[in-house]
Amino acid sequence: MQYRLLGRTQLKVSVIGFGASPLGNVFGETDPKEGERAVHMAIDEGINFFDVSPYYGLTLAEERLGKALQGYRGSIVLSTKCGRYGTGEFDFSARRVFASIDESLRRLRTDYVDLLQAHDIEFGDMKQIIEETVPAMRQLQQQGKVRYIGVSGYPLTVLMRVASSISVDTILSYCRYNLLADDLDADLVPFAEAHGIGLINASPLHMGVLTNQGAPAWHPAASEVYRAAKEAAEFCRLHDADISELALRFCFDYMRVATTLVGMATQDRVSKSLRAFQTSADPQMVRQVRAILAPVFNQFWPSGRKENQ
Ligand code: NAD
Repeated sequence: MQYRLLGRTQLKVSVIGFGASPLGNVFGETDPKEGERAVHMAIDEGINFFDVSPYYGLTLAEERLGKALQGYRGSIVLSTKCGRYGTGEFDFSARRVFASIDESLRRLRTDYVDLLQAHDIEFGDMKQIIEETVPAMRQLQQQGKVRYIGVSGYPLTVLMRVASSISVDTILSYCRYNLLADDLDADLVPFAEAHGIGLINASPLHMGVLTNQGAPAWHPAASEVYRAAKEAAEFCRLHDADISELALRFCFDYMRVATTLVGMATQDRVSKSLRAFQTSADPQMVRQVRAILAPVFNQFWPSGRKENQ
């Protein structure tokens, strides 16, 4: 495994990060015992960064991850979130932030997390995030309940607006750098580098789009994105390759983020991520797949137009 420093924090995180949302059945029913084995396998193979949230499976992912991490806490870097508690349920008040961390710590069976992130801040009131949420998170840092703090979300403009108004240690951005999108590289990376902010790249498979099984029903992209991804997956199959492996490798190679979070809940997924990490991507194959995906590249939701992100 390789490790990179997360911005100016002292956290050295594995290039493959363990995205724990599938442990909460976000992508369909998963077996808790198998999820536990996947966590242990990941740790044995050197994956040390684990990302979860109270939102994933409405606390189920935190419960399961906490159980699986018993006895391993000292050797891993643990990140959870606050502010999002359901599909349309958000509360970024200081009061909720203080209660939320105590609930998360109980579920995660620990007395601190390495990183606490305000979850999907575009759904909150920016004034409140800047004047109340982030300062409350800094108080938790002073109390020793969290080591570092960050924000997460989809619209890069919102993430950058908040991070230029108040200091944060990390930004988690999803579906902005993979075979289907790259505006993280043009917009967020220069900003983060200038401010010494650590970057976490999530959803290398575009939340399940770049897979043979396809995206989950709740996925927000336009239907032409799924059609193009299906064609790309088929092209890979015909050439004895796997679209997911190619997509993962593409992200692991990207040096301007500290880690790439892959959603995993089975040993098979962990070994596939490791295999992608160990094999190099055929540049010609990457070019051909990108050509198939080109018509839907950097197509953003909900409207598909970047300026509306
Ligand atoms: P992803 O792109 O990793 O896709 C996950 C889906 O792909 C799951 O169905 C998983 O089983 C499947 N998958 C994983 N490896 C595969 C493989 N080798 N072959 C075929 N299918 C495979 O998306 P994600 O789970 O959304 O993102 C990863 C993690 O990033 C999340 O678990 C979460 O921790 C984090 N995240 C955070 C935010 C946020 O804070 N707003 C948003 C998105 C993701």
